[in-house]
Amino acid sequence: MKFETHVKEIIYRTYNVTSFRFSRPSKLDYLPGQFFFITIKGSGKELKKHFSFSSSPLEQNYIEFTKKLSNSDFSGILKKLVIDDWARIEAPFGKFTFIGENKKIALLAGGIGITPFRSICKYCTDKHLKTKITLIYGNRTEEDIVFREDFEKMQKQNKNLNCVFMINEGNDNWKGLTGFINAEMIKKEIPDYKNTIFFLCGPPGMVKALEGIINQLGILANQIRVEYFTGYI
Ligand SMILES: Cc1cc2nc3c(=O)[nH]c(=O)nc-3n(C[C@H](O)[C@H](O)[C@H](O)COP(=O)(O)OP(=O)(O)OC[C@H]3O[C@@H](n4cnc5c(N)ncnc54)[C@H](O)[C@@H]3O)c2cc1C
Repeated sequence: MKFETHVKEIIYRTYNVTSFRFSRPSKLDYLPGQFFFITIKGSGKELKKHFSFSSSPLEQNYIEFTKKLSNSDFSGILKKLVIDDWARIEAPFGKFTFIGENKKIALLAGGIGITPFRSICKYCTDKHLKTKITLIYGNRTEEDIVFREDFEKMQKQNKNLNCVFMINEGNDNWKGLTGFINAEMIKKEIPDYKNTIFFLCGPPGMVKALEGIINQLGILANQIRVEYFTGYI
């Protein structure tokens, strides 16, 4: 469906990632992991892009997307948005979804590719689904981890959710994993990887690298779902 809406809330997630929330029409239904097109206005022109829902469909009062802000014209308009500003949305789209179809899933994200997984994890947690979820989330530095508190909170509420944060550049205080997501750590974190459905999301370069690793592990093509965030390298 296509509808006009307004900015309800703006949430700064990290130094360069921001979430934008919009009023949700009661008729809008979507699945965790799907995406939508949004048109915004600035300097007299309309610009349109697509983003995954970072909200879960069970969050009734708003829909949210979360963007890594860049130097693009679109990001320039986003940086100036204020509460009640206008937007047009077309939704929902996409098949990169999960509503409890499998017993074990692995969610592998790089950078801003975390957004559909925030939606999926929130949905599974709020629905009390029994699916065993391992989220492996890679970032350059600790400061780049988006939704960290959110995932830590969900982990406490959902004993079936295990979140593994990995950063490329460690620091003295970092107690988690350092380096890049690789086959060995996947085997360690997901011992039953052969019976797990893998979801991969992030900038295309990162997803391609993750696909290579998953292939090395002998995971079958029908066990792999991918979403490329085109627009990033
Ligand atoms: C299914 C799907 C879901 C997606 N979900 C998300 C999501 O949840 N979150 C998200 O952040 N992205 C998501 N994306 C990607 C998103 O659609 C955009 O392509 C992406 O955010 C890049 O947009 P941009 O406006 O930053 O840069 P673009 O306009 O696409 O430009 C690409 C790069 O060029 C640079 N650039 C562009 N214009 C200028 C300029 N005038 N001056 C200097 N530099 C410039 C920018 O810095 C940017 O890094 C998704 C993509 C797909 C396909």
